[in-house]
Amino acid sequence: MNIHEYQAKELLEKYGVAVPKGIPAMSVGEAVQAAKDLGDIPLYVVKAQIHAGGRGAGHFTDNPSGKGGVRLCKTIDEVKDAAEAMMGKVLVTKQTGPEGKEVQRLYVTDGVDIDKEYYCSVVLDRGTSKVTFMVSTEGGMEIEEVAHENPDAIVRVAIDPVAGMTDEDAKAVAAGLKFDAAKTEKAIPFFKNLYKMYIELDASIVEINPLITVGDDVMALDAKINFDPNALYRHADVAALRDETEEDENEKIAADNELSYVRLDGNIGCMVNGAGLAMSTMDIIKLKGGEPANFLDVGGGATAARVTTAFKIILSDENVKGILVNIFGGIMKCDVIAEGVIAAAKEVNLSVPLVVRLEGTNVEKGKELMANSGLPIIAADDLEDAATKVVQATREALAA
Ligand code: GDP
Ligand code: MG
Repeated sequence: MNIHEYQAKELLEKYGVAVPKGIPAMSVGEAVQAAKDLGDIPLYVVKAQIHAGGRGAGHFTDNPSGKGGVRLCKTIDEVKDAAEAMMGKVLVTKQTGPEGKEVQRLYVTDGVDIDKEYYCSVVLDRGTSKVTFMVSTEGGMEIEEVAHENPDAIVRVAIDPVAGMTDEDAKAVAAGLKFDAAKTEKAIPFFKNLYKMYIELDASIVEINPLITVGDDVMALDAKINFDPNALYRHADVAALRDETEEDENEKIAADNELSYVRLDGNIGCMVNGAGLAMSTMDIIKLKGGEPANFLDVGGGATAARVTTAFKIILSDENVKGILVNIFGGIMKCDVIAEGVIAAAKEVNLSVPLVVRLEGTNVEKGKELMANSGLPIIAADDLEDAATKVVQATREALAA
């Protein structure tokens, strides 16, 4: 689960990680008031709050050549102008996709006179099973770009889960940023508190980009935190930070129905049981030259009703031009799946080709139900056959 920058910074502050002073605003009026409350300062920053980065370099759809979602303002009047240019407008950044995101919240901060920008993130490295700091002196740049162009510039420090983060670890992180002794002294509590927050709140990613220095002080100028959704039950205060307007409608419906759904960019909808099978289904679709439109795991014990919901979610994506249902009936029986698929296809007036591959318990009964359904279902024998058929059928549907 994602939260907004201003919420992330409130959490960081609580844990003793230095951030610039700032006040969230839900309207232009509130933004002006926030600036006044910050006092008579030389620089204000108005920041669009959306669940995506790259705001500064982004643009608003009503003014494509204008400024982005992070604006430096010298006066209260400029704050008002900036807030008006952002509130209720659609901001497009590298991370939002071309459709962008509507700005409904702003954050007005005390503008900092930055000496230098750095990159810092805390992630779980699944290779070493350790929480790892990734830092780079290339601040403000996206880490993927740094990793691509200058991988040696990224320094990793893995933290022992039993010992926790030691002063030595924090010094190693500071050394990765080439901090001198004075900055390192200030950076030690900064990194240790950051680690403490990551662990205690069950975060999955904390990204500070940029981390900045002002004299010998170290601060988080931007902050992104992702939380492990499986641990949210023990953090009611974190769960309360959820902003559902930022979330994909279908992903929400899926979560409410215990379906694991992630929308992707392709045009072949996939309905699969089991995360591993879903991944390999997506792989083989790509291998055959197609592009999956989603990851969807209906789980082991799905009911016909849940299959119907899954089907509706897939079809509500207008990019979907073909569907592959790939089910291994173990706990879930093939005839139950077949019933769900048939019911859903009838209910939604299925208009795209549907390839079904069933295997496992009651497979014959399932196939029979499909064949007698009167629906134009393309039956497949195995995974490879299914992928070949759905890629072919989707291509034909696109050409038609
Ligand atoms: P992002 O574009 O969504 O990553 O938003 P950031 O919060 O990282 O801001 C983008 C850039 O705006 C930063 O890298 C800074 O260069 C600049 N910026 C943001 N806040 C301040 C500030 O308080 N003072 C100054 N001088 N620049 C800032
Ligand atoms: Mg940033």
